[in-house]
Amino acid sequence: MTIRTRVAPSPTGDPHLGTAYIALFNYCFAKQQGGEFVLRIEDTDQVRSTRESEQAIMDSLKWLGLNWDHGPDVGGEFGPYRQSERSDLYKKYAHQLVETGKAFYCFATSEELDEMRDAQVAEGLRPQYDGRGLKLSDDEIAANLAAGKPYVIRMKIPTQGTFVFEDYLRGDIEIPWENVDMQVLLKADGFPTYFLANVVDDHHMQISHIFRGEEWINSAPKLLKLYDDFGWTPPTLGHLPLLRNPDKSKLSKRKNPTSINYYKEMGFLPEALLNYLGRMGWSMPDEREKFSLEEMIEHFDMKRVSLGGPIFDIDKLNWLNGLWIRENLTDEQLMQRFFEWKYNPQLMTKVIGQAKTRINTLSDMVELAGHFVAGMPSYDPALLTAGKAEEEVIREALQLFIWELEALRAWDKTEIFAIAKQVATHHELKIKDFLEPIFVAITGKTSSTSVVDAMEILGSDMSRARLRVALGHIGVSKKQAKKLEKSYQAYLSAK
Ligand code: GLU
Repeated sequence: MTIRTRVAPSPTGDPHLGTAYIALFNYCFAKQQGGEFVLRIEDTDQVRSTRESEQAIMDSLKWLGLNWDHGPDVGGEFGPYRQSERSDLYKKYAHQLVETGKAFYCFATSEELDEMRDAQVAEGLRPQYDGRGLKLSDDEIAANLAAGKPYVIRMKIPTQGTFVFEDYLRGDIEIPWENVDMQVLLKADGFPTYFLANVVDDHHMQISHIFRGEEWINSAPKLLKLYDDFGWTPPTLGHLPLLRNPDKSKLSKRKNPTSINYYKEMGFLPEALLNYLGRMGWSMPDEREKFSLEEMIEHFDMKRVSLGGPIFDIDKLNWLNGLWIRENLTDEQLMQRFFEWKYNPQLMTKVIGQAKTRINTLSDMVELAGHFVAGMPSYDPALLTAGKAEEEVIREALQLFIWELEALRAWDKTEIFAIAKQVATHHELKIKDFLEPIFVAITGKTSSTSVVDAMEILGSDMSRARLRVALGHIGVSKKQAKKLEKSYQAYLSAK
């Protein structure tokens, strides 16, 4: 049997560190045994999936050196590797499950289901699907189908007993069936849910081992039951521990940048970032801290992954990156890295376009345009609130700006400016007064090149990271955070 692993990201946002970590461990497991590594794009969420995000995920995995044997761009014998191109397959299998009595139609509208849940809550019960579709007679189903009523297909789940499976990393895991819902497999729009698509694909792509994040443990009974329902041999399943912030909370962009692009823009080396991700729950047999991907593959042992949540600590990554720079790169190579990173004609042309009208000597450039290559600009945080707008308004407007920028796909100055304008208007601020603190956050100065242009050139990850640092300087208490959430909801519904 070919050992074949995969990483199956959903392209709904920035390329996440967690995706690279899961990819790395799957990659090492397969490569160590001469196996194959697959990239599958799980884009069944039609609303949230974007091609930009897919491209960014592929670019960042490639940047890290995690290349796949099969994938949407390179093809492979079991393709296509993008779920949106496999819809017919999922439909066919969902209906097959209905025919074999393993799944059923449900015609309930969302209003009916809301009512059902409200009634359950009123009775003090846990809201869950009550199996009403199972009670329909064959005639009723036929009539509904003939009338063209919208339906979903749900899987049948035992009502009693406990599901037990052997996790490759955790041993036996028991989950009572009463905690498992009758999962929708095919939605009313004809698209599959994660569960159906995932199982159909892992089977057809001949994936032998699945190592995924521990947040998926509770879905294991549904996945493994589906293999059983189809009569397929399931792959080996294992759940890796989640990455955590230094305060042990789940790694999230509120506390740490989580986009791989951010680390690239900050000037971390891909080999150092990969090395650090390799230390998340795993260590070399001789405990050495610095190792290459090849060395990791050589010594890799999935069974030695420790399950306590690994802490992603930027200070440690910083230190490790320094080691890689000093010990592994010649001066020549380091210079080359600088060129590839920022000091290249592509970026410098943009910077010069911004700076030319404002400099008298070439050396003025360092002071004026340093923020295009610097990591986090340092400045006196008091500058953020030194302008016309009140601190409270700046806090709220800045947070709103960050959230709106997070949702922005096409990163260009016209869009950025339009959002800035909306946010300013919403807070009854003149655009000039709103941009004052933004200017400081982005450039570290009170006057420099155009801030919106700077944001476009810096890119989404670095711009948002700088805004988040500024928000951190202003400070957001728990109470204020709640208020901000509320006012964002109000803003969204007023839009
Ligand atoms: N699309 C899922 C995700 O985004 C894949 C989970 C899995 O590996 O099964 O994480």
